[in-house]
Amino acid sequence: MVISPDTQSLRVDIERIKKNILELATIGRSEEDRGIYRMAFTDADMEGKRWLLDRIDEADLKSDSDGAGNIFGKLIPEGAAGEAPSVVMGSHIDTVPCAGALDGSLGVVVALECLRTIRASGIELKKPIELVAFSDEEGRFGGMFGSEAFCGRISPAAFDRKDLDGVTLGDAMLRQGMDPVKALDAARRRENIEAYLELHIEQGPVLDTKKLSAGIVENITGLFKWQVRFRGDANHAGTTPMEMRNDAFMGLADFAHEIPRIIEENGSDLSRATIGKAQILPGSPNTVPGLVEFSLDVRDTDEAVLHELSRAFQKALAATARRRGLKFEYDELSFIQPVQCDPELVSILGEEAEALNLKSMHMPSGAAHDAQILGGLTRMGMIFAPSRGGKSHSPEEWTAWEDVEAASNLALRALLRLCAQ
Ligand SMILES: [Zn+2]
Repeated sequence: MVISPDTQSLRVDIERIKKNILELATIGRSEEDRGIYRMAFTDADMEGKRWLLDRIDEADLKSDSDGAGNIFGKLIPEGAAGEAPSVVMGSHIDTVPCAGALDGSLGVVVALECLRTIRASGIELKKPIELVAFSDEEGRFGGMFGSEAFCGRISPAAFDRKDLDGVTLGDAMLRQGMDPVKALDAARRRENIEAYLELHIEQGPVLDTKKLSAGIVENITGLFKWQVRFRGDANHAGTTPMEMRNDAFMGLADFAHEIPRIIEENGSDLSRATIGKAQILPGSPNTVPGLVEFSLDVRDTDEAVLHELSRAFQKALAATARRRGLKFEYDELSFIQPVQCDPELVSILGEEAEALNLKSMHMPSGAAHDAQILGGLTRMGMIFAPSRGGKSHSPEEWTAWEDVEAASNLALRALLRLCAQ
């Protein structure tokens, strides 16, 4: 199916996108560091949600929200059977602390603009389109709460998830006048969703370096996170001879050194492994460390490769512990499966990028997104807009407006294709 000639020329209004992005960016922004603080279910986050609901009403779309605090704007074709499954496009408007203006927000604002443009064009749709802003994507309470609720993947245990200050998700929702239990009713039926499309900034340097306007995502990386401990013997730094030590830190140093080899032998070009946090105990300059505790974050887009890497890292931990006279243990904090984007959506995006003469490339996503969760419920596709300098989760996060416009028009055309099917 191709786009009919009368819709070929349909384009988003970049001025409206600009205005909305800049306006939303003022909500929760600190005057001190210019960062945006709209963490999930804070007052600023709720203000952002109210702002979005107002914009949805203003655009003459049907506004709605669910028990998980997800916000919707619906464009329902006249005379369409109420049963027709919706094409959904969106992202999130919650942020990490000290965030930039585009992570998540861009996808929601562009979805609003696409619906507005389609509504104004008077094109006859075969299916409803919904824009969505999902709650707590960024992880004040672990992340992906809204999309998981939408996909029917939460249980009441989710309400006990705590933020860094020990506040539970349930309490945070209650404080905002929401009944957490209603989040369990946010689940949507598979047969009511036709497809999910998300536009998001790349948050990496690839598109910017290659001077491209858009990335067509083929798959989203999976990952596992471990909390690892090497236990040795804490002892006097002066009186314990080198060969008589069970130095836990030396275990970590040896293990860290094994990472490039393991990636080379057991991983792929897309494998990543990071030790991002470590603690040496007892943490005294004149004591041989008796315990180290560290994080290990491993990612790849292929589940088999992830399992292979998991085995290789276990072996390396065991070998290092043996060599250094240490004990080791680890807890797997999470394992997220990689998700493939829908091949048909990938090819629709490729065709439309070509029709728009847009400089684009196919690529994997190294970061997790709501789309990853939606991929378990429906056909899913993702578009990346370039991040200047690869910067994200910082006030420096930015994308040139012309690239925003290009990626938005690609999203618009993909939406039209999906609604015409
Ligand atoms: Zn995001």
